[in-house]
Formats: sequence, C-alpha cells, structure tokens
Amino acid sequence: MVGRQTPPRPVDVMMDEIPSLGWTLIDVSDLGGDMHACEYCANERVRFVHTISHPDYPDIRVGCICASKLTGDGTACKAREQKLRNKASRYKQWLRNHPWQGDQEQTSVQGYGNVTWVATVYCHSGQWWWQENSAGAITVCNIPMQSASDAKRDYWLQQIERSKR
Ligand SMILES: [Zn+2]
Repeated sequence: MVGRQTPPRPVDVMMDEIPSLGWTLIDVSDLGGDMHACEYCANERVRFVHTISHPDYPDIRVGCICASKLTGDGTACKAREQKLRNKASRYKQWLRNHPWQGDQEQTSVQGYGNVTWVATVYCHSGQWWWQENSAGAITVCNIPMQSASDAKRDYWLQQIERSKR
C-alpha cells in the first residue's frame, strides 16, 4: 500500500496478536539465502520472503508456509515463489555458461551466435558498476550497485530485457 510504513516490531510480540486471517499477498522477493526469520512463526528460515498486508496490522514478511495460511491462497504464494526459484536457477545457469574471469572475476566474454562482446564489473567510489564493450560501443549500467555480484546480476537482467526487444 502506498505510503504505508512498517514500524520495527519487537521480537517478543506474541503470535496471537497478529491477525490469523484477512491478509493479502503484496510481494515475494529472493534474498539469495535463508537469512530471514519468518515474522509470524519465527521458525521458518526464509529465502523467499512473502510480504503480506492486513488492514489492521503493519505489513509482515513471512515464509511461504505462513503466507499460504494467512492469505488463504497457497496457490498464489507458491506460484510467486516458484517464479523466483526459476529465475534464480536461470541466473545460476547463465553464470555457469559465462564465467567471470580474471584474478577478481571481473570480466566475462559474452556472445550470441558468432558475435562476442566483453562485460566488466568494476568498483568506483565504493559502488559497483558494469560496463559492456561491444566492438567499441560502450554501455554502462544506469544505477550503481552495492557489490560485484549485484552488478553481475543487474547486467544479466539488462541482457534479458534487451533480448525481449
Ligand atoms: Zn512462518
């Protein structure tokens, strides 16, 4: 919901204070690892975080099991998570097919048919950028990234976008 803030919630809030019905799935995001404790059951270690919203309670970030229970729509919750899982495995596959080389794994040769180009990630002023050099035509990312791996992933996403055009 626009303009709605989620205040930090103390970890010792009792589970029964949280409504057990009437939630709506807002978004699912991939943290890249099991690093989030489900804010409903506190047991699930969550990689795919489901943000759910309730008219009488601030948004909470939970795992698929709790999101399914609270929204009553397990099918939607699982489908959204599966989409992200597929995307993550496509990215893994792309990394395997286009390994980043050099001492710091900052260069990757990309190609399509018999055309090849070179992608580079580099750090400037504490932020990470990718750059593509295709026969002298240079493309640079629009927004700087937090880390080299974020820059690589952003480059990959940009390639997907481009292949759709
Ligand atoms: Zn949970």
